[in-house]
Amino acid sequence: MDCIFCKIIEGELPSAKVYEDKRILAFLDINPVNKGHVLVIPKEHYNNFLELPPDLLKELIVVVQKLSQPIMEAVGADGFNLVLNNGQAAGQLVHHVHFHIIPRFNNDNLHPWPGKTYQENEKERIAASIKELI
Ligand code: AMP
Ligand code: ZN
Repeated sequence: MDCIFCKIIEGELPSAKVYEDKRILAFLDINPVNKGHVLVIPKEHYNNFLELPPDLLKELIVVVQKLSQPIMEAVGADGFNLVLNNGQAAGQLVHHVHFHIIPRFNNDNLHPWPGKTYQENEKERIAASIKELI
């Protein structure tokens, strides 16, 4: 399969690994938002979040939590963002599901998204629609 993360798992591409177990690998992002930016991936290839089997998702998120504090301490961060880009529209470039753990620093001036406002009744309609579809 032509997947760069599968190649990293197979050792065909280099990576700066920070954690590995039977089903999960974590390594430094090659182009970090801030230094210490880590990607956490399942060793089995799934294209995106929606394809992940729930048992593997649970293992993955537990590892994400386990790594977050050591990552912050290693780079002296004040906080972190957990990011998962799902689909091209959301900026997913590598189609092997991965969580980003992005260290954040007070006054690092990285401003995430601006907020939008709802029109009258729009919130209620959208909430009702989501509830119906669950
Ligand atoms: P996304 O846009 O969520 O798919 O993120 C893909 C991430 O993978 C980006 O932040 C890239 O910098 C990172 N990336 C791409 N190739 C490599 C690589 N060979 N080693 C480490 N990180 C990589
Ligand atoms: Zn893959």
